[in-house]
Amino acid sequence: MAKKQQQEVCSFCGRSMPHMFTGLDDGVLICSECVEEGHRIISNTPKARPLNSDELTVDNLPTPQKICDFLDQYVIGQEEAKRFLSVAVYNHYKRVLQDKGDDEVEIEKSNILLVGSTGTGKTLLARTIAKMLKVPFAIGDATALTQAGYVGEDVESLLVRLLQDADYDVNKAQRGIVFIDEIDKIARKSENMSITRDVSGEGVQQSLLKMLEGSIVNVPPQGGRKHPDQELIHVDTKNILFICGGAFDGIERKIAQRMHTQVIGFSAQQETEHVDQDNLLQYIAPQDLKSYGLIPEIIGRLPVLTYLKPLNRTALRNILTEPKNALTKQYQKLLAMDNVKLSFDDNALDYIVDKAIEYKLGARGLRGLMETVMTDLMFDLPNRKQMGTLIPFKVTKDYAREKLEKADYVRLKNAV
Ligand code: ADP
Repeated sequence: MAKKQQQEVCSFCGRSMPHMFTGLDDGVLICSECVEEGHRIISNTPKARPLNSDELTVDNLPTPQKICDFLDQYVIGQEEAKRFLSVAVYNHYKRVLQDKGDDEVEIEKSNILLVGSTGTGKTLLARTIAKMLKVPFAIGDATALTQAGYVGEDVESLLVRLLQDADYDVNKAQRGIVFIDEIDKIARKSENMSITRDVSGEGVQQSLLKMLEGSIVNVPPQGGRKHPDQELIHVDTKNILFICGGAFDGIERKIAQRMHTQVIGFSAQQETEHVDQDNLLQYIAPQDLKSYGLIPEIIGRLPVLTYLKPLNRTALRNILTEPKNALTKQYQKLLAMDNVKLSFDDNALDYIVDKAIEYKLGARGLRGLMETVMTDLMFDLPNRKQMGTLIPFKVTKDYAREKLEKADYVRLKNAV
């Protein structure tokens, strides 16, 4: 292909450009812009992007300790899960960023499974890691997924969201994190159930498996169903980190059964003495997931298994004030814009936590309770705004009680 410098028009866009190329037939010309555009369409990727200063490299990859410290700023407790996650994420990105040497050692992917009751911080952990590493992040719910061909979302929909979060930069998306919640809900009803009739269980697990393993998935750019003549984006999931979460209600029974059987085999007396019966989740092992109905292949693709503890009173109380974006801090910031210096009595916060426990609302319910306490205030105080004067307001226990009693508790309870 010869390079022509003279001013002629491109046979594709009709413009005259400084750099034009001609093929064997002298009559046909293409400009450099059309060459680039063609390349972009073929490879389905946006134009090559210079490395951004906050993009991960081997040199700026935070250590597990740094990742854990960052998580501490946003997530209360869950030390064990934080340590497991920090190491797994660190190893994952080392693997992604590694210089492919010529040795035979291939580092395997370390997708993660977080087991713990709803509202204990599984999503928050995954989201916070993505925020720290500034990688694209997507959340999906396994219950919404169905096997390809059935009514419902295909597993590819998870990747559509990831692509959207990456502004359709495929390379960036391919290093992102996908959080799949409620993975326990696609477990088979029984370990020995037939494969063929289980539309929502095993079928979905099989579809997910391909993605977790690492494969090229064809994703419809706008989401939704695939059409035969639609242009698809090819996403390689090899370097996407999948974090799955699930409550696995009742799995304690499987754990207890297994431990009991093991105990019989060893020194029964010694083993049972050390078992913390109130928190059996800490002993969770891959076998328990299999008994619960996850297929062994999926379990094999989620090698990092850890658990989250139920949140006790102290944890709930800390959630209100400690995290960097704790609820109390958010309301203070909002009202500061109306020249209000907001503070909370300790008793008021204790009272709100008591209500969250009484109505079994958990951490997620704290938000609803706080909102109920704060709404009247947020409605009234802006009217009193005066330039240059700071209005102090303290939320007391009596004030909080009055607002919660005014609101209908039952409605509140059902709303969460
Ligand atoms: P899960 O995914 O386990 O069901 P989430 O992470 O979605 O729970 O938690 C719901 C909300 O509760 C979070 O947005 C956060 O406000 C609060 N929360 C839950 N657990 C914690 C925690 N350990 N530390 C701080 N906030 C928490």
